[in-house]
Amino acid sequence: MAKETALRCSMCGRDKKEAKILIAGINGHICDNCINQAFNLIKEEAMGEQKQQLQQALNLLKPAAIKEKLDEYVIGQDDAKKVLAVAVYNHFKRISHTQKNIKDEVEIDKSNLILVGETGTGKTLLARTIATMLNVPFCIADATVLTEAGYVGEDVESILTRLLQAADYDVAAAEKGIVFIDELDKIARKSDNPSITRDVSGEGVQQAMLKLLEGTIVNVPPQGGRKHPDAKMIAVNTKNILFICGGAFDGIEKKIAQRLNTQAVGYASSVNDEEFDKGNLLQYVSPQDLKSFGLIPELIGRLPVLTYLKPLDRSALRQILTDPKNALIKQYKQLFKMEGTKLDIDDDVLNLIVDKALEFKLGARGLRGLCEAIMTDIMYSLPSEDKPVKQFTVTMDYALDKLKKAKLSQLKVA
Ligand code: ADP
Repeated sequence: MAKETALRCSMCGRDKKEAKILIAGINGHICDNCINQAFNLIKEEAMGEQKQQLQQALNLLKPAAIKEKLDEYVIGQDDAKKVLAVAVYNHFKRISHTQKNIKDEVEIDKSNLILVGETGTGKTLLARTIATMLNVPFCIADATVLTEAGYVGEDVESILTRLLQAADYDVAAAEKGIVFIDELDKIARKSDNPSITRDVSGEGVQQAMLKLLEGTIVNVPPQGGRKHPDAKMIAVNTKNILFICGGAFDGIEKKIAQRLNTQAVGYASSVNDEEFDKGNLLQYVSPQDLKSFGLIPELIGRLPVLTYLKPLDRSALRQILTDPKNALIKQYKQLFKMEGTKLDIDDDVLNLIVDKALEFKLGARGLRGLCEAIMTDIMYSLPSEDKPVKQFTVTMDYALDKLKKAKLSQLKVA
């Protein structure tokens, strides 16, 4: 009898009859009630820590801080940087929201983006810089190689294979990664009447991309390529993957101008076309223009944030040569320094490189080719010099001579 009364919870004193479960330990017992209470305490503590960590991350990632960081690597494009910074900030707020398991009434939509701008204006650079800054897996996919499933070309899922590879097959990391889809304009609907022939590399791909962009669980072939019936698939949830799409959308200015003109006439109010900056119509780009260009409304809807990049002018190109953290000229100086040589480049030469890039319509992409044309000979001979060369100056004469020998037509970007 005395033995039975001793069987009670050592924490709260409940006896065996009152408790549903009484678990025996070395020196005592614990009831289900106390286990539950202790579990909730631990859970609250852990949640608090996680919340704090997420809050800290968000504090560091304020939009202004993101833009400042982008400024270190990308010249100009302030509008695009601001829009991108806000989209990324909101995206991570959204992720932290989901992780906190808050069942709020308001669900935050994904902020996938479209960057519209000429080739070589910094679209890929912006996306890559953001990914590096956030330390998340990043991959670039080319929309032109994608085709509707079952046709020659790559399935849309192959994009995720690349992201998985970038994440070293860490699925959880890949699920928070950033994907840059280049040349989105090339999968625009080819004709106004899609029913005549199947448009497998245009509208078909747009359709195939919808699910991916919105958020779904996709079975991804780990090695890429076409899905094989017996290949082992990896399930990837795209819900928290940020998709940034880029495209030049050649000729979209015409569609913008048309829309702006009809609007100005239609409303016949204070809006008249005098107020539009005709030199840069891209800044007025709207989802409607993308639709006129040939993107299907469902796709546009899943890429809700739209911004533009300006063509780079002379002063932007000049800054790109020397100002960004890993500017081309800084890279050459570093390469020479590793050889024990101090490299100086006359200012005139830098202006010449910019002039040539503009003259041949090479844009920022061409700067590199021009620099190589000037520097290759000296980079070839310098390491073999008998005596170390302490200093080397690239003068205007030297640069002109090298450029004359180089076939500038080969530098043209396709
Ligand atoms: P896009 O994706 O718009 O075609 P990229 O981002 O690939 O162009 O740019 C090509 C190269 O040109 C980049 O690697 C970078 O060196 C340079 N570049 C382009 N735009 C900028 C910019 N705004 N600031 C700094 N570098 C730039």
